Amino acid sequence: MFARFLKTASACPHCGQSLDGHQADDFPAYIVILLLGHILLPLMIEVNAAFAIPMGWQAVIWPTLAILLAAALIQPVKGGVIAFQWSRRMAGFR
Ligand SMILES: [Zn+2]
Repeated sequence: MFARFLKTASACPHCGQSLDGHQADDFPAYIVILLLGHILLPLMIEVNAAFAIPMGWQAVIWPTLAILLAAALIQPVKGGVIAFQWSRRMAGFR
């Protein structure tokens, strides 16, 4: 589905379905932000309740974890948004 990291191929290599008409726009990023907030905030609260990690380390650990998780989630979430548009015949999939 993807020609590059977040650039979709113009068509599916298996069935030829055109992918140019999708309109995922910023929605995958909003979903990733929502997911990361719900993953990281409870984790930060629980880790801080259980351990006494110095603030300097936390200033490195949490943003790094957020960046890694965002990079790991953005492509599958964008694929999911495009798949949902395809399944509902939305955007350019009419
Ligand atoms: Zn296909």
